Amino acid sequence: MTAYADFYRRSIDERDAFWAEQAALIDWKTQPTQICDYSKPPFANWYVGGTTNLCHNAVDRHLAKRGDQNALIFVSTETNEERVYSFRELHAEVQRMAASLLALGVKKGDRVLIYMPMIAEAAFAMLACARIGAIHSVVFGGFASGALASRIEDATPHVVVSADAGSRGGKVVPYKPLLDEAIRLSAHKPAAVLLVDRKLATMDLTAGRDHDWATLREQHLNTVVPCEWVDSTHISYTLYTSGTTGKPKGVQRDTGGYAVALAASMQHIFEAQPGETYFSTSDIGWVVGHSYIVYGPLIAGMATIMYEGLPTRPDAGIWWHLVEKYKVTRMFSAPTAVRVLKKQDPALLKKYDISSLKALYLAGEPLDETTAQWISDSLGVPIIDNYWQTETGWPILTIANGVQKAPSKFGSPGVPMYGFDVRLIDENTGEELKGANQKGVVTIEGPLPPGCLQTVWRDDARFVSTYWKSIPGKLVYNTFDWGIRDEDGYFFILGRTDDVINVAGHRLGTREIEESISSHPNVAEVAVVGVADQLKGQVAMAFVVAKDASALSEDAARLKLEGDIMKVVDGQLGAVARPARVFFVNLLPKTRSGKLLRRAIQAVCEGRDPGDLTTMDDPGALQQVRQLFTK
Ligand code: AMP
Repeated sequence: MTAYADFYRRSIDERDAFWAEQAALIDWKTQPTQICDYSKPPFANWYVGGTTNLCHNAVDRHLAKRGDQNALIFVSTETNEERVYSFRELHAEVQRMAASLLALGVKKGDRVLIYMPMIAEAAFAMLACARIGAIHSVVFGGFASGALASRIEDATPHVVVSADAGSRGGKVVPYKPLLDEAIRLSAHKPAAVLLVDRKLATMDLTAGRDHDWATLREQHLNTVVPCEWVDSTHISYTLYTSGTTGKPKGVQRDTGGYAVALAASMQHIFEAQPGETYFSTSDIGWVVGHSYIVYGPLIAGMATIMYEGLPTRPDAGIWWHLVEKYKVTRMFSAPTAVRVLKKQDPALLKKYDISSLKALYLAGEPLDETTAQWISDSLGVPIIDNYWQTETGWPILTIANGVQKAPSKFGSPGVPMYGFDVRLIDENTGEELKGANQKGVVTIEGPLPPGCLQTVWRDDARFVSTYWKSIPGKLVYNTFDWGIRDEDGYFFILGRTDDVINVAGHRLGTREIEESISSHPNVAEVAVVGVADQLKGQVAMAFVVAKDASALSEDAARLKLEGDIMKVVDGQLGAVARPARVFFVNLLPKTRSGKLLRRAIQAVCEGRDPGDLTTMDDPGALQQVRQLFTK
């Protein structure tokens, strides 16, 4: 057996011994007495009896050895700011933020919702919550008031931390009005709002509720806030993600298991070296931002770059400029971003000295071979695809070069990571597919390893029924992705089995978009599907049956309604969820029992065979989709 095969086998066969060793990668206040309590499957409790703190592991424990080394590097090409915080400075800022939250009445276990652009204060807020044992819930800054309202309602935060505005492509995007509207829409009202005033947009303040961060910070410049030692199973954060229903799920994460999982992945997957610089181009609103902008690199004693801006502004060399300037060794991005760069002047890649770079990690959506080959040739470093989900917190499939160097296969994220007992299952029979090159659903045998979701926030029943009971006769975690495994054990991911789509690495629920479109007064019915797109991987396409279609034979009227529907989605969910096109049809393809045939619509849009249509009610409906789409 190879070194990695041994390592992997041990993680499954001698689970507790393996994870007990990994636990030594972080600091504990009290050592755990039990490694994994799996007495109530599928609920796994990791490192029971142990107490620790995420902020201590990310910040405080580095002070003695590397207090003056870079910890957080904030770069905005939108506002032309660049601020570098050492571990010591980060420690001070986090305490000021923690003291401010305490002053606003936040207690251990309270939720703090963070709706922020990619600025340093967002990371201070996350770390400050971890420091005092509050539960953070970061909502992606690109979401609009409707999406934000449903998350505020579900998380019931005591405080919301936000800012006057973000900026994108040189255009100021005000956050405060969207937040005010979201709070107005939500049944839950936070007691306080803490606002970072970047002086980008004017803000209407609500007296008694809204507080200015600069003022509070000034009051707490030297306040000492010790880390609150929490149980390993204490909730560190919730992060909302889309599923099959319109209601987003709050993925709930623990503290000790997550800290160990990240520390281990930084070593075994990302080959982290303390003192080096990590650059993840994601956003703190997504799971990659949590694990590999904020917590992972800092836990490993690395400096981390937080970048606000586009990959193409001031020009498409900006990332490589940052790599040169900060001697980045490990970079993490998404295939869509690479496809964007591929369209730019190749000379920009050669303009900078990027010799510090040792590997580029890509995740979030399928990495096609052409893109992988292009970036690999351009950078001359290993390109490491990694497959995972908001739910798992760290890679399920990739290559663990820190354990043993292994070749990547373009088109495949790699092999199962230690701790993940991955099985391919036949969707209909529930039988495991053990042979090579058989297509099945990617599943994971319980217990999920440390770092994965504990449950769905306030909804254990949904956790069990959604993730663990979807395969007949088996209690197994369903990723809702199709996959195959080749003769060498490498997996290939073939897309989602459910109604989730992936636009430029952003996971969106088609039901959520449908619900938003349905709120337009002239929409009777709607189907949203994901359609393959060269740049973004997938884009959303909407098919709408209008209540009053009398004017829709006119181009101008159709375009007007299409634009109005897009505005509804922009206003409620945000531009990320806006469909690329809205088509108007007389009826939607359904089965005789009334089930919407989304997969058939998608197949037709992608020019594929829609498969067995014997249960379809009216074949004319699909014909109309075909005609509209191929026009
Ligand atoms: P999210 O929870 O937003 O990270 O989205 C997770 C989903 O993105 C997965 O279930 C996959 O469908 C897709 N995904 C993530 N990483 C990859 C990858 N490396 N290759 C293919 N699909 C991926």
